[in-house]
Amino acid sequence: MPDPILLLVDDDPETLASLASALERRFGADYRVLTERSPTSALARLEQACERGEDVALVVAHLWAPEMTGLDLLARVHDLCPRASRCVLVSYGDGPAYQHVRRAFVLGQLDTYLLKPWGDPEERLYPVVSEILGSWARSVRPRVALLHIVGERWAPRSHEMRDLLERSSFPYRFYSHDSAEGQCLLRDVGHAGGLPAVIFGDRCLTDPTNLEIARMLGVKTEPEGGLYDVVVVGAGPSGLATAVYAAADGLRTLVVERQVVGGQAGTSSMIRNYLGFPRSISGAELAARAHEQAISLGVEFLLIREITGLAARGAERIVTLAETIDVTTRTVVIRLRHRRRELGGAGRGAPGALRGQRHALGAGRVADHVGLSRQADRAGEQHPRAPEHRAAPRPRSASPRSGGGQRHRAWGERIAAGISAVRVRRGRAAHVVAGENASA
Ligand SMILES: Cc1cc2nc3c(=O)[nH]c(=O)nc-3n(C[C@H](O)[C@H](O)[C@H](O)COP(=O)(O)OP(=O)(O)OC[C@H]3O[C@@H](n4cnc5c(N)ncnc54)[C@H](O)[C@@H]3O)c2cc1C
Repeated sequence: MPDPILLLVDDDPETLASLASALERRFGADYRVLTERSPTSALARLEQACERGEDVALVVAHLWAPEMTGLDLLARVHDLCPRASRCVLVSYGDGPAYQHVRRAFVLGQLDTYLLKPWGDPEERLYPVVSEILGSWARSVRPRVALLHIVGERWAPRSHEMRDLLERSSFPYRFYSHDSAEGQCLLRDVGHAGGLPAVIFGDRCLTDPTNLEIARMLGVKTEPEGGLYDVVVVGAGPSGLATAVYAAADGLRTLVVERQVVGGQAGTSSMIRNYLGFPRSISGAELAARAHEQAISLGVEFLLIREITGLAARGAERIVTLAETIDVTTRTVVIRLRHRRRELGGAGRGAPGALRGQRHALGAGRVADHVGLSRQADRAGEQHPRAPEHRAAPRPRSASPRSGGGQRHRAWGERIAAGISAVRVRRGRAAHVVAGENASA
């Protein structure tokens, strides 16, 4: 199969030659850079490529092409090669272009734009084209699998495993147990037991738990120990943002996540409203980048680990993980999914509230160092601070329409009243189960 095509369309021969030579220099080893001076000839070239089954990775068209606009051409490109990325070329100072480009973005007819002249290609041309080609390759090319699962195609456990691995972006492949490939794999590892079978290198596990799979892949599942400044519960977008801000402020930070990094957002195929991603980003990619960013700032992660309890011991907070491992910390931030997470109870300046949080917890034992977040702050601007850096919180009241808000308000008030232990239940943020003043 010939290399995928990058097709450039512009009636200005100088621009065309300069763009082709810049892209050829950087991408010529892996892509064929083709040029056309008119939309009609470009469409004919694309039809030919489709007939031959050739891949088209990217079409770049000047906005004001003869015969039809570059945007009309790109709309036709989508019909012919739905997987090709589309980029429009706009001249600097072309004011009227703005509304056409904006409309095309809103209608999903365009992936990006480039300005000409583009100056040093390292500044914008290469980064934009690299990013586009990277996401094209991820969505089109088969990945080399490192982990193999053989199981019954429609069995719930097979589905769960695939979902988890998909969301963690781990390269894996699933084989139905009655397929020739599946049978062959089972024979190769000498597996005759139950299903699903999970194969990694020369190791094979029978119907393993998520934790066993994580350990087989070398994922860290035990804490390093010692006293943490912050333990963040949940590695969805808001937990990740919290961890990044905490670590950037020099706090020793641990994130505990019962599944994989990304939370709900990890299941999204395309997120368009997160700040800093003009060409949108998949949830899995967002999670991978945020994970890497957090690690680069020194955040420790425990994945496939569930928090099952919280308690106070003097000035320290004890976070209990499944398998009864205790983690000691000064502050706990709970970042679990909830529609509303407003807590009442505290006034301005109350201790224990985290800077920027939209609720406050009153003075109390666990409450001194426990924060609950409202649902993802999307762009993730909230973060915990060391106690000495905390600013006064704004008092909030729970919405009368929100059951979740009421529940959390009640919890906040109970914590404020001096409850000393909290147990976290699956699917809920947390539930008070014991304490001096607990009434339920
Ligand atoms: C398919 C889909 C597409 C979406 N697209 C968009 C979009 O385009 N734009 C947008 O703004 N929003 C989108 N959303 C919504 C967005 O994903 C959520 O607003 C966001 O993920 C909420 O983030 P969070 O960190 O508050 O909670 P979550 O993402 O729910 O993360 C909470 C994390 O806590 C973990 N957890 C729970 N209990 C425990 C425990 N006891 N111990 C340890 N960990 C625990 C969970 O496993 C989870 O990973 C989408 C949601 C879905 C499902």
